[in-house]
Amino acid sequence: MSAWEELPQPGDENVTIRLTRQAERVLRKGHPWLFDQGIENQSHRGAPGDLTVIFDSKRKMLGLGLFDPSSPIRVKMLHSGKPRPIDDAFFAERIAQALARRSDLAATGTDGYRVLHGENDGLPGLVVDRYAGTLVVKLYSGIWVPRLRQVLPPLFEALGPERVVLRLSRRLQKQSEELFGLTEGQILHGPLLEGPVEFKENHLSFLADPIRGQKTGFFLDQRDNRSRVGDRASGKSVLNVFSYSGGFSLYAARGGARDVLSLDSSQPALDAAVQIFARNHGDPAVASCQHEILRADAFEGLAALAEQGRRFDLVVIDPPAFAKREAEIPAASKSYARLLRLGLQVLAPDSDLVFASCSSRISAELFEARMTEVAAQAGRPFQDLEVTGHAPDHPIGFAEGAYLKCLFARA
Ligand code: SAH
Repeated sequence: MSAWEELPQPGDENVTIRLTRQAERVLRKGHPWLFDQGIENQSHRGAPGDLTVIFDSKRKMLGLGLFDPSSPIRVKMLHSGKPRPIDDAFFAERIAQALARRSDLAATGTDGYRVLHGENDGLPGLVVDRYAGTLVVKLYSGIWVPRLRQVLPPLFEALGPERVVLRLSRRLQKQSEELFGLTEGQILHGPLLEGPVEFKENHLSFLADPIRGQKTGFFLDQRDNRSRVGDRASGKSVLNVFSYSGGFSLYAARGGARDVLSLDSSQPALDAAVQIFARNHGDPAVASCQHEILRADAFEGLAALAEQGRRFDLVVIDPPAFAKREAEIPAASKSYARLLRLGLQVLAPDSDLVFASCSSRISAELFEARMTEVAAQAGRPFQDLEVTGHAPDHPIGFAEGAYLKCLFARA
């Protein structure tokens, strides 16, 4: 018997909800979230994951979702329009569609990618990443606890994982009454994990620690941007700021970079970068690239490198999210500006800059406009500016899904 088969079943009694007019307008556009303020009235307080039938202000059915009593996003929408069963076949179909979207990846020598990207794949709050034979199921809401029995079997059938690891969002970790004994980092299926797991991205070998690593162990969303960096790296001296386990660094090395400096504040991340480089030494370009690591706060580290007169031909800056809430936007915008000024100080004249933002609250337009302005003020105006997003295994299904923007420019 698998761990998830002992979890409670979703309740039989549907919650019914009538919307306010304003919420109706939002949901009609296909938005996947119904906030608590958008509820005009409700049949009863359901349990997490109970099927919820949404009626518009004229009492006509508008869609179906899953009830989430402890979140301000009270219903996560699954379907809009006419009634249809939300059963095993429904989830199997959504998962099959998600897998079809990613079917090109295998041919690129990639077996580490996002299988399910929550709302953007029609399954709000559910993320599944694959690292070769290990699947990492990350839940952002308790609605998925009683539904694991519906989503895991089709994943098993399609991908035949050796192991399944469970990760829980910070908020959900505190919601013990919704977890029925499930724990953060639990192995739901397969052998225990004693170290990191190995996987491939564009034929490069990587390691991820799905239990202790940041996110689910790796930043899969930057795959295509890493590739672009590889394409621009030949013969260059490269600085990778906020390197984590050296993803951009390794692509740069394979692309023929002379030397790469990986800078991060996390020692385990830098240790992983060293190990990952060693695993790819079979590639002559990686073997001949000089890889250095520097453990430092990015702001202090950049200032110190500038002070020492170090200059690089390609600088990558990929910071963590600075603005997760509306109120954090001004401070985040300042931090991005500061980082860019520091980055430009160590960028050799007329060289390549790659600058990413994964703050969902900062739009691509704002980021591009503000950074363009800062670069011009610093006397290093951007040329040949291009803005890219995430790799296609992170599809964009709604406005909030477009969180990653990456500027490529010469300055
Ligand atoms: N570029 C990476 C992902 C970066 S994630 C990749 O492609 O995989 C952000 C990284 O920033 C994390 O590794 C985190 O340890 C690091 N970090 C967070 N705050 C930092 C700071 N103030 N200075 C340096 N690194 C920091």
